[in-house]
Amino acid sequence: MSTENQNNPTNSNGRVGFVSLGCPKATVDSEHILTQLRAEGYDIVPSYDTADLVVVNTCGFIDSAVEESLEAIGEALNENGKVIVTGCLGAKGDIVKETHPNVLAVTGPHAADEVMTAIHEHLPVKHDPFIDLVPPQGIRLTPKHYAYLKISEGCNHRCTFCIIPSLRGDLVSRPVNDVLLEAERLAAAGVKELLVVSQDTSAYGVDVKYKTEFYNGTPVRTRMTELCEALSQFGIWVRLHYVYPYPHVNEIIPLMAEGKILPYLDIPFQHASPKILKAMKRPASSENTLQRIKQWREICPEITIRSTFIAGFPGETEEDFEALLDFLDEAQLDRVGCFAYSDVDGAKANELDGAVPESVKQERVARFMEKQAGISAAKLKQNIGTTRSVIIDDIVADDTGEQLVARTTSDAPDIDGLVYIDVPENHHYKVGDITQVTITDTDAYDMWAKLAE
Ligand code: SF4
Repeated sequence: MSTENQNNPTNSNGRVGFVSLGCPKATVDSEHILTQLRAEGYDIVPSYDTADLVVVNTCGFIDSAVEESLEAIGEALNENGKVIVTGCLGAKGDIVKETHPNVLAVTGPHAADEVMTAIHEHLPVKHDPFIDLVPPQGIRLTPKHYAYLKISEGCNHRCTFCIIPSLRGDLVSRPVNDVLLEAERLAAAGVKELLVVSQDTSAYGVDVKYKTEFYNGTPVRTRMTELCEALSQFGIWVRLHYVYPYPHVNEIIPLMAEGKILPYLDIPFQHASPKILKAMKRPASSENTLQRIKQWREICPEITIRSTFIAGFPGETEEDFEALLDFLDEAQLDRVGCFAYSDVDGAKANELDGAVPESVKQERVARFMEKQAGISAAKLKQNIGTTRSVIIDDIVADDTGEQLVARTTSDAPDIDGLVYIDVPENHHYKVGDITQVTITDTDAYDMWAKLAE
């Protein structure tokens, strides 16, 4: 045991015992993990009884190596009780969990990051504000009361107008326990609203075959529905962005109805004409989409649906565009953005025939926005007289007093509308507070309210 730890145990993030079995490649993996442990301020200790937990790096090459590894895990469990297993045996199906169901976590070889995630979960890094330059929740560019939670990188789709897959590659999902740990730290740091983001939120976990991980000893699958369910335990607002319209999106609507996550779905439909959707390589026909929206509203009447669309995609005729306007009439979406199509270097859509002249694109965007402004204004008007929960983003002063600038559950920061609430001079509100207001007035995008009685 290091003297530094004996002299001042509070300087250490914890004591880790390490058993390294197997070939030189496994040894290199062990060295990576040990280096990372020391870099993060953990002590490496030589005995089971002085360790807070034990990592066993296993070998699974031949039967005798499997046996030796399973025995080493059993010994560590008997002597210490808290064991994380990594290495080749971890990659051999469920053999470790079947023989030793009490291990804290199991990873395969070359998985230093996953091992560190498991160690962080069971032996969290202490934060010392006098020494650490980075707070436990990391450095964030958003205000203190909301935070973006990125769950994956890359995308498996090949929408013809988009070059993200060629820039960032195919989907790579973050381990769900890692995401949940970050959410836990953010909630502990005072964040009141998590904005779940990725290129394709509904595809979460496809790349890892929806692998089961462990968070606080509880199994959680790397999958959107299970992630939402798990995020709801932090008791803060959870808002989903960039949900590609897969069929299993239907599974999360009941979670919204139960109040586990916000009844808000940011789902980019992009168009409604089947011909244009096909040229874009997007899924779903508009009839199916309308049917699904109807079902979602039946299950969760308060759901807010936000979407984005592209006008002037190559080959879009006046008829296709009118199909899009008809779709808006039928779908009665709550929040909508529209962009004029423009070529992106390297996108497949550049090669398509039927480029739409710039002036026509702009005219279509204007017609689209005019149509949606009418729908939005009528929908917002239905809020007058209702009581809504709002989160306070800002407090501003003018000649007549102070005003809260807030958002309802239907409004994401920066892209949706705001609620303005006059408050008396001696009010006690702070940015990030969630309170109840009664809506008194609306326009096409914003609302005005008074504090609820
Ligand atoms: S538009 Fe979205 S879903 Fe389509 S390829 Fe790009 S990132 Fe993926």
